Amino acid sequence: MVIKTATFISSNTRVDKLPAARLPEYAFIGRSNVGKSSLINALTGNRHLAKTSQTPGKTQLINHFLINDAWYLVDLPGYGFAKVSKSSRAAWEKFIRRYLVTRENLQCVFVLIDSRHEPQRIDLDFCYWLGENGLPFMLVFTKADKLSAQKSQSHIEKFRKTLLQWFEKVPAYFLTSAETRLGCDRILAAIDDINTN
Ligand code: GDP
Repeated sequence: MVIKTATFISSNTRVDKLPAARLPEYAFIGRSNVGKSSLINALTGNRHLAKTSQTPGKTQLINHFLINDAWYLVDLPGYGFAKVSKSSRAAWEKFIRRYLVTRENLQCVFVLIDSRHEPQRIDLDFCYWLGENGLPFMLVFTKADKLSAQKSQSHIEKFRKTLLQWFEKVPAYFLTSAETRLGCDRILAAIDDINTN
């Protein structure tokens, strides 16, 4: 898929104010600082679409971008920020979980994971929760340019092995870099596949 147009539609703090669920929708989520904004910009070929390196946890917004007038790319707020109080973390959970379980046009959740690290509890727990709720998801390992292929592959294998303790099948995964655009076309092809099937 070639992205011809990527347009910012809305930022919402409430699930009941989201754009009408008329087009297929793909959500991107991950730990704060995982490289989500950079990846969204690399995917869409627009350096300024998603803002990079905002103060972690400051804005709890669901951002909708309309792609090629055909589908929505949704930028969800990051999780796991250290400086946020327990009550705002609980509010985040409620808000995002409500979005994820109620949004009827949501086709797939792309869970971003920093490929530089050993599997982190918070990412594994989130995947487990998605699986438990029957939400389709795929794994996106980020910042591949920052480490050797061998090292990132080892982290990916460990992550997938842990998921296999819970699930019969592990979801598809992508190794990506916002710097080199590694993996971006594969993600877009996966979205195309779902949209056309
Ligand atoms: P977000 O909080 O998940 O939206 O993360 P950002 O996109 O703001 O990225 C956090 C930091 O990681 C920034 O300093 C980015 O420049 C850097 N970063 C993000 N993706 C990559 C990548 O693929 N390669 C490299 N080398 N740095 C990246």
